[in-house]
Amino acid sequence: MKRIAILTSGGDAPGMNAAVRAVTRKAIFEGMEVYGINYGYAGLVAGDIRKLDVPDVGDIIQRGGTRLYSARYPEFATEEGQLKGIEQLKKFGIEGLVVIGGDGSYHGALALTKRGFPAIGIPGTIDNDIPATDFTIGFDTAINTVLDAIDRIRDTATSHVRTFIIEVMGRDAGDIALWAGVAGGADDIIIPEHKFDMEQVANRIRDGRDRGKKHCLIILAEGVMPGHEFANKLAEYGDFHARVSVLGHIVRGGSPTARDRVLASKFGGYAVDLLKEGRGGLCVGLLNNELVANDIVETLETKKHRPDLSLYDLNHQISF
Ligand code: ATP
Repeated sequence: MKRIAILTSGGDAPGMNAAVRAVTRKAIFEGMEVYGINYGYAGLVAGDIRKLDVPDVGDIIQRGGTRLYSARYPEFATEEGQLKGIEQLKKFGIEGLVVIGGDGSYHGALALTKRGFPAIGIPGTIDNDIPATDFTIGFDTAINTVLDAIDRIRDTATSHVRTFIIEVMGRDAGDIALWAGVAGGADDIIIPEHKFDMEQVANRIRDGRDRGKKHCLIILAEGVMPGHEFANKLAEYGDFHARVSVLGHIVRGGSPTARDRVLASKFGGYAVDLLKEGRGGLCVGLLNNELVANDIVETLETKKHRPDLSLYDLNHQISF
């Protein structure tokens, strides 16, 4: 393969730029040409495509967001959208595509693959909710941002002897809440993948108070319910003067951590290796610290992401 393209799609994630840089530089190193597609699948269909050279991806490894911009473009789920996209790729003489994004973006790559156009998916989302990889680009940065917030909120929670409910992003996945909660010593972590009992949550807060604990931090994944709704339900079991802090999009931004930059660089380099060999229809991942390439069709149709629930049990054993 001599000419490839790259796009970022869905929710932006810190480290996407590092992946774009890695794909571009590795491809040029291998003697290939690279085209950048702006605004995800929307830009693909509109033909918002330009050649990328070495300097075009300079000074971006440290930046959050995505310099190729992103977009939600539901029209790409239609046959018409996909055929237009392939027409544009052919017009530019592009033979393979790298898609950096979440599971929705993978479905776009899957659609192209099924229509005979080789696409490779790179997992880029703060949510960590992609099958066939232990980690996605942006997750490490996101949990460190949440951790910083937890540490700050802990200061004020302790000073005023308060309970805080900290709502974090993650869509339907609890990974961000789980990892940041364990790292932040949260008293409770509430995630969609594990049942919880509000009476037990209230009892844990009471037990902590009785032992003289000054603060109580509950990390709530947005996929369970909104923070204020959770606080209202908790109030039915006692007056805990709970405050709610919704971290929201703050968790999506910021400079990527070293771990995310390295992960992005590894995924980007590997995606180019695969396309150079003429291989497409794959998604790359990191499983047990090894780079892997899985069939994108099989991955999306048969595999499901599961968070590391051993962290949930561990947290109950060490944070009380
Ligand atoms: P995140 O989870 O971080 O938000 P995502 O990639 O899952 O990222 P989505 O908005 O679900 O975000 O998907 C991104 C884009 O992928 C969509 O706007 C659309 O252009 C394309 N896409 C989603 N689903 C499909 C599908 N079934 N077929 C083709 N394209 C799709």
